[in-house]
Amino acid sequence: MSAKTELNKVAKDLVVSMEYELTVDGEIIDATEAGDPIDFIQGYENIIAGLEKAVEGLAVGDTKEVLVKATEAYGEYDADGFVEVPKAEFPDDIPMEVGVEISVTNDDGEEMTAFIEEVSLETITLNFNHPLAGKDLTFKVKIVGIREATAEELEHGHVHFNDCECGEDCECEDGGCNCGNH
Ligand code: ZN
Repeated sequence: MSAKTELNKVAKDLVVSMEYELTVDGEIIDATEAGDPIDFIQGYENIIAGLEKAVEGLAVGDTKEVLVKATEAYGEYDADGFVEVPKAEFPDDIPMEVGVEISVTNDDGEEMTAFIEEVSLETITLNFNHPLAGKDLTFKVKIVGIREATAEELEHGHVHFNDCECGEDCECEDGGCNCGNH
């Protein structure tokens, strides 16, 4: 155990394991399975900003109910956030199905995420709003583990899953190995 960092409370640069249940509009829409928490490095916005702020200082075993306002979660809903794209210009390797998430690079070279909203005969409508935009999120969280991050994890800004069942090393695409389970 390091002398510089207190390891029993959620703080910047520590890897936190957390179970959660997410309720939106009174409905549970996402939850971790028992014994299968998410892992993130505190202070790196691996999780949404409002939630990160709320878990700061919690100890292992602590539970908390956290209301994260839309502005601190996935932003306000933007009624102008829709773009119609001719099907002919749509990349071949992406399925043309409602709900599919795609990455789009804008004119400034910024990478943006969009979701297919509608597929019609000639065009595809992309929605640049996150599906949870405009929604207040209620999380029930439980801190189940805290450990020091490795130097490599801090450098990359995400947790490495060395114990992934697939046995493949981290390729750093989504902050985990490339088995697609993270
Ligand atoms: Zn990495």
